[in-house]
Amino acid sequence: MLYTIIGAGIGGLTTAIAFEKYGIEYQLFEKAPALNEVGAGIWLAPNALQVLEHLDILEEIKTKGNSIDRITIGKPDLSSLSDTLQNEVKDTFGYSTIAIHRATLQQLLIEKLPQEKIHLGKAFKESKELNSGRIEITFDDNSTFETDFVIGADGIHSKVRNQIFPESKTRYSGQTCWRGISDYKIPPDFEHRGIELWGNQIRFGISKVAKDKTYWFAVVLSNVNKKDKKELTKDTLLRKFSDFDPLIERLISGTPHERIVKNDIIDLAPLDNWYKNSICLIGDAGHATTPNMGQGGAQAIEDAYYLSNLINDKAGENTFRLFQQKRKTKVNQIVKKSWSMGKIAHWKYGKGLRNFVLKNAPQSIMKKQMMKMYHIEKIG
Ligand SMILES: Cc1cc2nc3c(=O)[nH]c(=O)nc-3n(C[C@H](O)[C@H](O)[C@H](O)COP(=O)(O)OP(=O)(O)OC[C@H]3O[C@@H](n4cnc5c(N)ncnc54)[C@H](O)[C@@H]3O)c2cc1C
Repeated sequence: MLYTIIGAGIGGLTTAIAFEKYGIEYQLFEKAPALNEVGAGIWLAPNALQVLEHLDILEEIKTKGNSIDRITIGKPDLSSLSDTLQNEVKDTFGYSTIAIHRATLQQLLIEKLPQEKIHLGKAFKESKELNSGRIEITFDDNSTFETDFVIGADGIHSKVRNQIFPESKTRYSGQTCWRGISDYKIPPDFEHRGIELWGNQIRFGISKVAKDKTYWFAVVLSNVNKKDKKELTKDTLLRKFSDFDPLIERLISGTPHERIVKNDIIDLAPLDNWYKNSICLIGDAGHATTPNMGQGGAQAIEDAYYLSNLINDKAGENTFRLFQQKRKTKVNQIVKKSWSMGKIAHWKYGKGLRNFVLKNAPQSIMKKQMMKMYHIEKIG
């Protein structure tokens, strides 16, 4: 049986690596003519790392990325509202979250795959079921390809999804995010920390991703930003975060303009189903979440793990249905919680109460929730 993966993002590439491990026959098609990830960092939480360990990529990720030993939500002056040490996570899994440059992660994933199975410059246009029961995919260049199954891993604006579930809808959070990789070297005290500072309806995140490279992100309400649309990104940001600790100014100033990317923050309204007949969605194509919990990529990676294991173990059964059953509850909870967290972080009123709750929330409850999210079932 041949599986055709559409999209060489985190989800598609990890699925291909898992298919390689189990000897599942596949081909991967990507619309971009070359694989060049955006200039930003990504946090890989321990649930993602367990899968990458299972796929024998963890050691390279550890070497090229940076371990986060403490996660802080703080005020603009860098004082902390909530601090979660990652000792228990490390004791349980052997590692905590790793922050890494996206391009480095992409490179590590691609290197694990036979290049002849990756077809670049091939944008999925549509597919149809043939009388034989197989599927014929047509690409934008009008070339076609026949397969038994399609895995739609083509991201939040998925064409595969739009074909099988045209009623699906993305939701706009009202927030915009800038991300960059700065050459400014953060002080040693901050090197192994993931920090998010909550100000007056704006927030700023920081973590080291490699030697002398610091990833940052800045989130603002989009309506606040509308009038600034034509201005230089860096000037706009510097002005908005001028009452934050001077470290923020140094990080933004130390980032070349071309290393700053801007995205509106959107997610996907939960779908009733992630599959239809022989086509299944994974990652952002099926369940994109807002980035507030740093879990979108991790969930795509978890999808790769469970789907490949089910295909390997349950050949002959409806593996797409089993996959959806296994994954949907957890994913939907993350999508919902992440959406609320984004709203709380930007509250206009009741900031005092929000900060009080954050400062006094029992660590034990927060840790319990975190450990539950990081859990994945051991298979094999
Ligand atoms: C600001 C921000 C910060 C984030 N931070 C984190 C974080 O710290 N940790 C985390 O785990 N997640 C994070 N995420 C989420 C994470 O980036 C996504 O969840 C993840 O990239 C989803 O992977 P994917 O493979 O499903 O989709 P994508 O990474 O979007 O990949 C989709 C691929 O499909 C290709 N494609 C699209 N259309 C077609 C087509 N028609 N034919 C063929 N190919 C096509 C695209 O070119 C792309 O290569 C963040 C997201 C944002 C926006």
